[in-house]
Amino acid sequence: MGIRLFFLMLALLLVYLIVRHFLRQSSAQRPIAKKGVDMVQCVHCGVHLPKPEAIFDEPNFYCSEEHRRLG
Ligand SMILES: [Zn+2]
Repeated sequence: MGIRLFFLMLALLLVYLIVRHFLRQSSAQRPIAKKGVDMVQCVHCGVHLPKPEAIFDEPNFYCSEEHRRLG
């Protein structure tokens, strides 16, 4: 009857190790920077920002409305 408890604990340990492994893997794969987003540069101050967040005034990109006015 002791061997059943041993196998139960072994199974729980195995499950714990598998869960921990997958949790680590998912956190490690979390991207730091946004992927697939074009980066543009503000022509006024030179800051880099994602294209969807930039203000576009042909042919230049700006980081803010203020910098668009300043040019
Ligand atoms: Zn700027």
